[in-house]
Amino acid sequence: MRGESFEPKFFFILVVDDIATNLRLLRAMLEPIGYNLTFCRGGKQALERIYASKPDLILLDLIMPEINGLEVCKILKADPNYADIPIIFLTGSHEQKHLIKALELGAADYINKPCNKRELLGRIRNHLFLKYTIDQLRSTQIKLEKALKEVEILANTDSLTGVFNRRRLFEIALQEFNRVDRYGAPFSILLIDLDHFKKVNDHYGHQVGDTALCKVVQNINNIIRNVDSLGRYGGEEFMAILPETNGEQALVLADRIRTMVANNIIETKQGNLSLTLSIGVTSYHPDDTSIDDMISRADQAVYQAKELGRNRCCLL
Ligand code: GH3
Ligand code: MG
Ligand code: MG
Repeated sequence: MRGESFEPKFFFILVVDDIATNLRLLRAMLEPIGYNLTFCRGGKQALERIYASKPDLILLDLIMPEINGLEVCKILKADPNYADIPIIFLTGSHEQKHLIKALELGAADYINKPCNKRELLGRIRNHLFLKYTIDQLRSTQIKLEKALKEVEILANTDSLTGVFNRRRLFEIALQEFNRVDRYGAPFSILLIDLDHFKKVNDHYGHQVGDTALCKVVQNINNIIRNVDSLGRYGGEEFMAILPETNGEQALVLADRIRTMVANNIIETKQGNLSLTLSIGVTSYHPDDTSIDDMISRADQAVYQAKELGRNRCCLL
């Protein structure tokens, strides 16, 4: 199909017959309808033509010298790139046993020679319409799948910073908690709170605040591993979920994040600014009954870091 609507001019039909008179007769019947047509006299040439330019339908003579119609059909049906091209066989009355074979091989239909014009046109039209409908359904399905993936990403993403949103963050945290609760591997979380962020907004405006938030998140994302998950817990608070990481290892990572952010100058339209973080670190304890136990411990650790003067990490 070369167009969006079901019109003969958008369809390309290959006609294969070893007898020139037959090809002339078929051309006379099909040409006035407006189909794009191409003709060939044998199976080998037909295959070359199909590989060079995939037709929408093939009218295929059954008995031909060299490669006959059955063999052409068999080759095409075995190739996923060409298996969906409808093949209509042109058959003589003495070819019934071959015909059954052709249908078993996947031929769409057959027409007895000499061809009745109305029957021929009707069958061609029906098979083209079927193919057209299937192609439309397939492309709709592909579009839907793509849209669904985009919706899924949007539903899981924080629109400002591009990291996971709170909903997805909790899903991942819960998944990880349930996994370690069962298998007992280490697992840690970091609760990251920007220090005195309100002052940034007050001093530079909310827009600069937004830019600064994004830059900090970008920097954190560059440090953590691919298997770690970073999400927005709320406002200017973020959470990193660190699978297979114990408390001491998580504290090392937290301190790398803290140092990197503290040493980074953020350039904004209003001038340069630098930010610091207070990070609460905690890891799974076997007596934790739910992920909430870990989160409230991380919360307390953040509180402790703030109390101790901010720009620091605390492990609880
Ligand atoms: P602390 O060191 O105690 O954490 O002080 P803080 O000012 O960071 O904490 P507080 O909770 O008092 O204020 C948080 C600020 O973060 C206030 C709020 O406007 C700002 N904030 C939260 N979300 C956003 C956002 O999406 N964009 C901007 N620009 N600011 C935000
Ligand atoms: Mg806060
Ligand atoms: Mg804060």
